[in-house]
Amino acid sequence: MFDIGVNLTSTQFASDRQKVVKRARDAGVTGMLITGTNALESQQAQRLAEDQAGFCWSTAGVHPHHASEWSTEIASTLRRLAEKPEVVAIGECGLDFNRNLSAHEQQEYAFDAQLALAAELNMPVFLHCREAHARFAAVLAPWLPKLPGAVIHCFTGTRDELEACLGMGLSVGITGWVCDERRGLELRELLPLIPADRLLLETDAPYLLPRDMRPRPTSRRNEPCFLPHIVHQVATWRGESAEELATRIDHNARTLFRLA
Ligand SMILES: [Zn+2]
Repeated sequence: MFDIGVNLTSTQFASDRQKVVKRARDAGVTGMLITGTNALESQQAQRLAEDQAGFCWSTAGVHPHHASEWSTEIASTLRRLAEKPEVVAIGECGLDFNRNLSAHEQQEYAFDAQLALAAELNMPVFLHCREAHARFAAVLAPWLPKLPGAVIHCFTGTRDELEACLGMGLSVGITGWVCDERRGLELRELLPLIPADRLLLETDAPYLLPRDMRPRPTSRRNEPCFLPHIVHQVATWRGESAEELATRIDHNARTLFRLA
């Protein structure tokens, strides 16, 4: 089972990164993608992936929260990083109209520029969309024929939005958000609509600790070693076996990100 969304560069992992990776391996995780959210963290993510070659890979990109930092220098940094064998996707990039930490115009500009970069480099993209579906789809659509693959990570949208994303050919990343008994119920009902070859799972650690783990972990920090819980719950809600789902999401991640 492959975790496609681990924010391993987070300061929440500063004191025990190696142990976090080891605990994930011991829990049966077969690989992970370390998320880059700005130029500096994309560099850190690449180095961490290099240290764990064959188990960790990374993305290089600028999250919509950081879109106001976008510059030609940052574009060159990402381009340089993308040459490294561990860097397998451009992102995370996209639009976030929920928190609006960067202006909408800046977000769209940085998103479009990263899609252009991915197309130029022939790399898949790791996408973020929060409360911005219409603009997200409008910016993304013209680039899709030029991209070798795309995943909308941490999907939390509506049924219409899911159908639109699937219609555009996107793969869909599901996090432990779906385990939340307050806000995950709508998403839970959508799980069976995602074709088996388009589904990916992720912890988004250290964020989004699944709320239905029993016994409850003592810390609120999420870890990739909790991926088996998400696999188990998603398999139950899809009416599938957890073992088959674990194998399937590993295969899907390796295919999408073209891993050895
Ligand atoms: Zn995200």
